[in-house]
Amino acid sequence: MNREEANAEVRKIQRICRGLPLLTEEKRVELHTAWHAAHANLDIAAATDVVRRAEEAINKPYRPDFVHEDWQTLSARASDAIFAHSMDCGVDFNDIIVAGPYDGQHHDYKCPKCGQTGTYRAPYFELQEA
Ligand SMILES: [Zn+2]
Repeated sequence: MNREEANAEVRKIQRICRGLPLLTEEKRVELHTAWHAAHANLDIAAATDVVRRAEEAINKPYRPDFVHEDWQTLSARASDAIFAHSMDCGVDFNDIIVAGPYDGQHHDYKCPKCGQTGTYRAPYFELQEA
């Protein structure tokens, strides 16, 4: 496989930058910690309160429509809200991948448009140099 074929392989899957996190790092840690405490104590009232606070923090209208003691639903809503991203960036993340090495390792990245930073795992391809 040459570099061009490897790039085409990467681009078979659409990857769009998800934009910046909606919550500040401080707020994410605060809510995530509160969630873990509520879950560890199996405190459904506290867990419900974390979901309400998290959904309000991202300006998502709070829906009190979960089944009581349904930890799966609460957990999904907490995690969706706490780790929500703006989703408004639109940069093709494959551009970042194809500009990097195909070594199967983790690499830091910074989105050129929205500035989102993080790490991604590069695919591994054995390249035949032309
Ligand atoms: Zn971006």
